[in-house]
Amino acid sequence: MAEEYRHYIGGKWEPSSSGKTFESRNPANHDEVMGSFPLGTAEDVENAVAAARETFPEWMLTPVPKRGDYLLRAGLLLEERKEEYANLMTREMGKTLKETRADIQEGIDFLFYMAGEGRRFFGHTMPAELPDKFSMTVRHPIGVVGLITPWNFPIAIPLWKIAAAIVSGCTSVFKPSQDTPLLATLLVQIFEEVGLPPGVLNLIHGKGREVGVALVEHPDVRAISFTGSLEVGRQIAERCGAQMKRCSMELGSKNVLIVMPDADLDLAVEASAWGAFATSGQRCTATSRLVVLAEVRKPFTDQLVSRVESMRVGNGLDPEVELAPVINERQKAKILEYIGIGRDEGAVVLTGGEELKGPEYDRGNFIAPTVFDEMTPNMRIAQEEIFGPVTGIIRAMDIDEAIEHANSTGYGLSASIYTRDITNVFKAIQRLEFGVVYANAPTIGAEVQLPFGGMKNTGNGHREAGPQSLDEFTEWKAVSIDFSGRVQKAQGID
Ligand code: NAD
Repeated sequence: MAEEYRHYIGGKWEPSSSGKTFESRNPANHDEVMGSFPLGTAEDVENAVAAARETFPEWMLTPVPKRGDYLLRAGLLLEERKEEYANLMTREMGKTLKETRADIQEGIDFLFYMAGEGRRFFGHTMPAELPDKFSMTVRHPIGVVGLITPWNFPIAIPLWKIAAAIVSGCTSVFKPSQDTPLLATLLVQIFEEVGLPPGVLNLIHGKGREVGVALVEHPDVRAISFTGSLEVGRQIAERCGAQMKRCSMELGSKNVLIVMPDADLDLAVEASAWGAFATSGQRCTATSRLVVLAEVRKPFTDQLVSRVESMRVGNGLDPEVELAPVINERQKAKILEYIGIGRDEGAVVLTGGEELKGPEYDRGNFIAPTVFDEMTPNMRIAQEEIFGPVTGIIRAMDIDEAIEHANSTGYGLSASIYTRDITNVFKAIQRLEFGVVYANAPTIGAEVQLPFGGMKNTGNGHREAGPQSLDEFTEWKAVSIDFSGRVQKAQGID
């Protein structure tokens, strides 16, 4: 019997009002059930929002350093449990142990960073144009917020939202992906254990189109922080727009790594292999396009293919494995469909291009790491997010053409250039339409103190992580204090 888990509402673990449940299964071995979870309803969302609303007035008045202290304690506890949770995360969502440890580490780093924010939470002071008047800005928590997350970073992405919301003085309802409910539950348990007051953080499991929609539609939810696909993000942004509700969108991308002729090819190949195939390409920053200058195309391609063919594919618990399963059957089918589309469009599969079969693979969702050559910028496989272990090489003649190809998609999250020429580095920094830009580093591997988010269809201008993450959950309040003893009128009115 699978262990049964519950929602977390107002500090209590509650079943679904529907009585229905769903299971979470290991993508490397479908026979392993990670747990049974309540299938949430609009009524459950109503209860969770009510708990968050009730708690908000007291929580917003709790001193900010005290709010930050809960984050510090949660970070220390997560550090103790890192190995245990990394093992469970590999079993729940597939990626290798090295990567699940890193996911949790990123969460710990952000908890510590945001705990420190509890003792900063800076506003500004600015001069007043009138004498004996003082002006400043302070942050004001936005209220009850809805946090909707994907499955590919089951700890780090929820924490980017939860920690920033907590320190900002918001209360929240967290709706994790249906593919990673166990890790979401364990994360919320940590906050319960460190004594976070009931109602500050609530958890509702279930489907996006029920629980997610109910949260987005709820009039008492003042903001939605969403990370996921463009398709769903667009629907949520439309619904939020109709209600004048703030929403922050962290969506998909079609990231790019440019290889210039003067690049250190060994580094460029390793960064491409890591960027394209870590987490089986299921990262929003995955290197799904390689723009390679004609002069180095042959040696780069040969080296990349041989590196990719050396990758061991299998269960992420095996330390030798570099490429783990993809999340679920639906995603596997979608990736295989895109590989077919690429072939039909005229791109050439250099390696991979198929589902893996055999005793090691038959109970899971395994696809061979796939490299396309002869990809051109307008092909669907160069434009649409595949979110799997698939990358493709696009040819360019010079830096200008390379940057043009890089910018030729509707997305704009992460881009990298490999070159030893400082001029190329600065041209790339200046012209790439991406929120995250690297020189001589892979497209993946964001650090928590830097703002994270994308341009164009990757988002709507918000950033997570870094000090900017507080902007998602606070309003700026402009405050002026007049100590002149007169009614002074601005703009020179007597
Ligand atoms: P998804 O959009 O299918 O689901 C994301 C979340 O939204 C899930 O919790 C889901 O249940 C919920 N949801 C689904 N439909 C909904 C609706 N109509 N209303 C409200 N909520 C709804 O994405 P996914 O498959 O879980 O994750 C993969 C996607 O996430 C990729 O596109 C990837 O690029 C993106 N992603 C982006 C970032 C980033 O920071 N830019 C980071 C990680 C992943």
